[in-house]
Amino acid sequence: MTDRLPAGFGRDEAGQLLVAGRSAGDWVRQAGDTPLFLYDGALLTARVQAFRATLPPELGLHYAVKANPYPPLLAHMAGLVDGFDVASAGEMDKALAAGMTAAHVSFAGPGKRDRELEAAVRTGVTLNVESAGELERLAAIAGRLARPARVALRVNPPFALKGSGMKMGGAASPFGVDAADAGPLLTRMAEAPFEFRGLHLFAGSQNLSVEAILQSQRQSVALSAQLLAEAGLQAPLINLGGGFGVPYFPGDTELDLGALGAGLAEILAERPPVLAGSRFALELGRWLVAEAGVYLCRITDIKQSGGEIFLVTDGGLHHQLAATGNFGTVIRRNYPVVNASRDSSARGPVSVVGCLCTPLDRLAEKAQFPESRVGDLVAVFMAGAYGRSASPEAFLGHPPPLERLI
Ligand SMILES: *Cc1c(COP(=O)(O)O)cnc(C)c1O
Repeated sequence: MTDRLPAGFGRDEAGQLLVAGRSAGDWVRQAGDTPLFLYDGALLTARVQAFRATLPPELGLHYAVKANPYPPLLAHMAGLVDGFDVASAGEMDKALAAGMTAAHVSFAGPGKRDRELEAAVRTGVTLNVESAGELERLAAIAGRLARPARVALRVNPPFALKGSGMKMGGAASPFGVDAADAGPLLTRMAEAPFEFRGLHLFAGSQNLSVEAILQSQRQSVALSAQLLAEAGLQAPLINLGGGFGVPYFPGDTELDLGALGAGLAEILAERPPVLAGSRFALELGRWLVAEAGVYLCRITDIKQSGGEIFLVTDGGLHHQLAATGNFGTVIRRNYPVVNASRDSSARGPVSVVGCLCTPLDRLAEKAQFPESRVGDLVAVFMAGAYGRSASPEAFLGHPPPLERLI
């Protein structure tokens, strides 16, 4: 038995993990230390190309910056996608610094502060408005600055994306306004000091079912048409969310992009006349970046307890919380994880733990590993999304990880 490596990764003759054609050990030597996040730019580009080749042309592609805001990765993505979606003024600054033009940046999120609304109006970023109160605060700010505020209405969908890792619709929600309350806000958005940019719907995340995604997209298009027709408005852009998932666990399968593309083309072709002049976009985070990233850490100790082997590493949940199952997961399962320094068909179960003094810090449980040594590198895959920026880096005072776009 040897490891099943995610697409784009391999082994050299000595059994070392290859990342973008070079060994993990080489990358660590070049960077100077572990733990180290590597993001493979060619894999990022290939993902976007696959989307372009398969999805209908009227469907633009936005990147959800919160999945990974590492500046070199953002700069790489800025040259590939049609827009960035951000969720704070901090992410907005990073998006603009990465080279994305303000006209192609939209800013969602509940609880935007006045200073964030003001920064967005000044730069010309589109605000995805989440409530009536936010819209009124924005009207005052735009009036005071004597500048139009670009706005889209975020609608809390009355349906959920079924089978999602994270549901974002079909229930009471702090995100967006209920569809039943959208009418007056849309009417208000059609007047000064606003420039109406369109609608934003986000029904769920981490979904691996083509059927469920298409069903929610069909409902999103129908709801958009209904709201716009009732308000007597046309929308330049409908942001349809996305929710495309990635295969984190054994038994998960990649989304069938061809089937998604065919289904979405049909949905858009049959759209009601009020949407004839609209452009559409999907906003994807993890599907674009998760599989391009790997987290490398080093084994610092090997010990046995209660008949189990523990590989203790210099990494952990302070960098890669999601891999330990503590970032919105119900049942803890192993991300793909391997010994990056050696390979062998003789295997046994090990637990890979981090260096933090908490039992939560487990990178893998009962993973089948070759006989490992202190100093070996461990690779945790699926590390391109919700890694460093989604982890409690200050917890326990260890140094930050290194990051490289390669
Ligand atoms: C988090 C988020 C995304 C990205 O989700 P992924 O599962 O990473 O694709 C997209 N849109 C909104 C509004 C979000 O909050």
